[in-house]
Amino acid sequence: MRDERSNSARPARTHKHCPACGQSRSLCDFYTAVEGSPSGYCKDCQRALSRLTSRRRQAAMRLLIAAHPEEWAGLLGQPRRGGGWPGWLSGPLAGH
Ligand SMILES: [Zn+2]
Repeated sequence: MRDERSNSARPARTHKHCPACGQSRSLCDFYTAVEGSPSGYCKDCQRALSRLTSRRRQAAMRLLIAAHPEEWAGLLGQPRRGGGWPGWLSGPLAGH
């Protein structure tokens, strides 16, 4: 039996629900952000998500380069100003 009385005033938060895998996991399974709060997804899901997005980004980039070879060559030839992308590049990706 657990001693509920000593914890009732301020329950120790040892677990967190991960919306990606739907499991309640120990806080050790979560990355900690700079502010000290645990990340939204558990480490496993965070890794899987970042792998997925980088792979999807690479695939999207290949498609875009194939579809816009001349504009892409022009982009590579000049420095990026302010980190912004031209409309044709941000458009198809924004829907995802
Ligand atoms: Zn998870």
